This record gives sequence, structure tokens and C-alpha cells, in this order.
Amino acid sequence: MIRRDFDLEEMKYFLNLVEQSTDDYLYILDFTNDRAIYSKTITKVFALEECEFSNATSKIMKVVHPDDVDMLMEDLQEGSNGRRKEHNLEYRWKTVDGTYVAISCRGQYVISHGVKYLIGRISEIGKQTRFDNNTGLYREVVLENVYNEYAKTRNAQGFLMLVGVDNFKELNEKYGAKTGDEVLNILTDAIRKYIDTPLRLFRMPGDECAVFMPYSMEKNIEQAKNLYKRIRNYIDSVIEQRKYDIFFTISAGAAEFNTEKDSFNDLLKNAKFSLHAAKLNGKNRCEIFDAGEYKEYIEKLGVQDELRRCISEGFEGFELYFQPIYNPENDCLAGSEALIRWNSRKYGFMGPDRFIPLLEDSALIIPLGKWIIDNAARTCNKWITNIPNFVMHINLSFIQIVKSNIIKDVIENIGRYSASNNHYIFEVTETIEMDQMPAVDRVFKEFIKNGFRLAIDDFGTGYSNYGYMRDKTFDIVKVDRSFITDIDKQRNNYLMVSFIIKMAHEMGLHVCIEGVETKEELSCVKELGADYIQGYYYGKPVCVADFEEQHLK
Ligand code: C2E
Ligand code: CA
Ligand code: CA
Repeated sequence: MIRRDFDLEEMKYFLNLVEQSTDDYLYILDFTNDRAIYSKTITKVFALEECEFSNATSKIMKVVHPDDVDMLMEDLQEGSNGRRKEHNLEYRWKTVDGTYVAISCRGQYVISHGVKYLIGRISEIGKQTRFDNNTGLYREVVLENVYNEYAKTRNAQGFLMLVGVDNFKELNEKYGAKTGDEVLNILTDAIRKYIDTPLRLFRMPGDECAVFMPYSMEKNIEQAKNLYKRIRNYIDSVIEQRKYDIFFTISAGAAEFNTEKDSFNDLLKNAKFSLHAAKLNGKNRCEIFDAGEYKEYIEKLGVQDELRRCISEGFEGFELYFQPIYNPENDCLAGSEALIRWNSRKYGFMGPDRFIPLLEDSALIIPLGKWIIDNAARTCNKWITNIPNFVMHINLSFIQIVKSNIIKDVIENIGRYSASNNHYIFEVTETIEMDQMPAVDRVFKEFIKNGFRLAIDDFGTGYSNYGYMRDKTFDIVKVDRSFITDIDKQRNNYLMVSFIIKMAHEMGLHVCIEGVETKEELSCVKELGADYIQGYYYGKPVCVADFEEQHLK
């Protein structure tokens, strides 16, 4: 044992001084008088009532995990008997939330003025994951402990609400990490206005916080929505006070729980799903968990997995069908549109309207799109021997245009066959994004430069881009099927189609009418001067062999 004479008051003074510059907890144990002195912050984290107290051994042993008590007692006895100079142990301490965490406790056994002391420090092992230094909040692990403690002791119900900053990544990139931290502090301060206990508000990974709220009296998830609104209003007022030197919005997702039924992981998954839904639905809002929507989402993921498997295993179950496009003037075949079909082991036959959005979501449309272009080009190459002016229409998704090197893929795949580029028309559906992206415009110009033609698909259904008609980017306007159904009976449809055809012709564009099913519809659109017709009247989409049988003989 080290013998050095010093003053306890002086020691306390140093302890208080040093504790401010360390995340560890400092301590002085006085064996002779059975007293203990700890850093002041110790009571915030561990289940000790005071930071300075007598009857130290028994009080300390109450916060030590029962399985670790013997080990610690032995070490302390050896130290106080002078058989040990150093104390260096890892054991578990009880925290304020009733759970145990591992600590590392190191110190020196000292004698001063005949009094035996242990002087040292305690650090929490894995402290980084329990605390967030920026916001001063507990992290997810603690939330999990709290939830599991709740589940042990009572059948509680309530909700978990995740709150996230919208576009946090961009905010960080644009204004720096310091602003990002500031935003998180504004958010947590706002939540603290309404949530006072430390074990209700947690810092989650990324830009998210979690509010854990067991129902006290009335069980109503509307509480989550109201809380969200109050937090949002508070943040708005802070932003206003700061004269808009900082601006952000928040989204939230809340899920109800019943500790008897839901595991922590289920609850967290549900809340995350709702937050994700809030962001997808336009941000700056709070969504409540909906089990039906979640089921749909999980099913979608299942289909996406099967699509991925089929694509990686040689495009298993995919087949291109072809629908004829006729010239109504002479009833001659002008070309065809390539339409994808998928018949999988797991889901059977599924329509493209269902699986194309999933392919787009996962960017799987890019590899499949290449396969489609290659197959359509091979088929086109074959059919031009029967019909020299044959034109193949190939659909392009917006994702292929903005997220892949589409021009390179098209040129490579089509270049393998001898049919020249003017045998191909690429169909794109009009979207708002298309208009807003200069990159899209460049891609279109490349297509035209290479002698391909472009068609505006589903014209009239979405955001009708008359600008593209005027700029001569497109060669063909494909009028959507919804205008054609009963065109012979619906005067408004007749007028719309008449107007579109006139305008397109004035601008030097061709018009293809989709979805013509009956003789009456055909004579109507013929009368209006349509250049091409595609519809069940002339033929449904069919496989290569059937197409050859029905249209090329
Ligand atoms: P779309 O490009 O507008 O294709 C025309 C759709 O209308 C096809 O549906 C076709 O079968 C259907 N159709 C044609 N004539 C008639 C008719 O007279 N009556 C009726 N009731 N329907 C008719 P399909 O094949 O189910 O394709 C649906 C959509 O899926 C396509 O609409 C297109 O947006 C997308 N799609 C299909 N194949 C591909 C592809 O290879 N690539 C991409 N990116 N999208 C594709
Ligand atoms: Ca199309
Ligand atoms: Ca269409």
C-alpha cells in the first residue's frame, strides 16, 4: 500500500476539478470510515442515491450485479489488508433504468494519515453506444433495455414514435456537420419541451430520435399525432425567432405496442416503416403504423427478391411478347411494340403493371432493360426480311434513362444486328421529372443523333409535355387507351383525340392510337386521321411464334 499523507478535502477538490474534463466517474473509497465519494454525475447514470455517503460497502454492493459481488468483495478485502496495490476489475453495475451495464473500475490502494483508501475511476464499457454526446440522450440500446424491463414487469401498452429530420444528409453536406448537430439539438430541445423524463426520449442512429410513451390513462394513438404537431410548431417558432438562418422540417412514424405481444424489434421495425412511409408521402408529416400497408410492403419485397433471383439466373421466366401496330390506311402491318411478360415459379404469371414499378424501385429494370433491347433487336432483325419497313417499339423506363448509360447499351445491343437504327422507336412515358432534368434532354438528343426515333407514351394521361412536341424531340405521340374506349359514344373523348391529332400533325408528328378494340372505335379514329393503330382489334400482344403466325404470313 502506498503511504502518502494528504488532505481529504484537497482530494475532493481535485476530484471535482477533474470530473469536468472526463467521461469517467472518479471515486474515493475510505475503508476505515466506510465512506464513499463519487463524481457528481454518477447518480444520473447508476442506481446510487447520493454521490457522497457512509455505509459505503453495503450501499455499493446493492448496485453491483449479484453474480459479481463475491469477486469484488474479495478484491476490496485484499486491497484494504495491504495484499494488493492496485484495483483493476470489470463487473456490472445497475443503472437508473434498472438494467446492468459493464464497467471497468481501476484504482490505487492508499494509506494517508492512517486511513485506508481506494482512489480511482470507473468507466462504462461501451459507453459510446449508450450515450450521445451531442444531444446528451441515451441511445437505442437503453431504449431496448427500458422496453424489455417494461415487458417483464407489466403488460403495458403505448406507442413508440420515431422523429427524423427531413433531408438531413443534404443539410449536413450543404451547411456542414456543425449545423447538422445544431439541428438535432433544436429537435431534441423541442421534444424535451413536452417529454420530461430521461427514459422517454432517445437518440437513434442517423438523424432520428425516439419517443417511448406508455399509455397512462386513455389509450389513443392520436396522442402521437398531437405530440408530433406540438413539436413541429415549436420548431417552426424557433426557426422564426432565428429569422430563418436555419430551416428544416421533420417527419415522424409512430407504432403502438403491447408488451405482451410485441418484441422490441417488431416495435422498432413498425415505427421505422411508418417513418419511411411519412418520408415517401412527402415528408413534414407523421404517419401511424398500418399493418395492412406493412403486409403489402413485405409482399412487395418478396416479389422483388424473386425478380432479382430470376434476373440473376439467366432471366428465368421472362419473355418478350409483341403487339402489332397497323397502318389503318391500307391495313398493313407497320411494326410492333415489345412488351415484357413474367411467369415465375413462385408467383405464376404477373402483369407488367405490377412488376415494372418494383423493377424500377430496385433498379433491376436496368439489367432487364438491356435484355429486352437485345431480344427486341434480334426479333426485329428477323422480321425485316418479311417487312422491310418494319419498326420495333421498345419501352424505356425513366430509371434506365437517368441511372444507366442507356445510349451505350442501346448502341451496343442494337449494333450486333444488321437492321439500321431507323427501325427502332423508343417509347418514354411523360413525367414531370423528365422535364426538370437537363440530363434527360441530352439523352434524348443522343438518341436522335444516332438515328433512333422517340415516342411519347400514354399521351394525355399525366403531365402532358407540349414543349417536347414543339421541340421536335419526339416523332410519334401515342394516345392513351383511356381516350379511345367508347370514343364512338363519348363526345369529350372524341374531341380530345381530334384535338391531339390535329395539333400533332400541325407540328409534324405522327399519331399512334392505342387500345382500339372495336370496329366502331377503329372507324372513328380512322376518320380523325390517326397514322397508326395498336389495339386488340388488330391483335393482342403474343409470343414470337404466334406473332409470325398471325401477322407475318
Ligand atoms: P404501354 O407501354 O402503354 O403498353 C400498352 C399496354 O396496353 C400493354 O399492356 C398492352 O397489352 C395494352 N393494350 C394494347 N392494346 C390494348 C387494347 O386494345 N385493349 C386493352 N385493354 N389493352 C391493350 P401490358 O403489356 O400489360 O403493359 C402494361 C405496361 O407495362 C406498358 O404500358 C408499359 O408501360 C409497361 N411495360 C410493358 N413492357 C415493358 C417493357 O419492356 N419495358 C418497360 N419499361 N415497360 C414495359
Ligand atoms: Ca409503350
Ligand atoms: Ca401506352
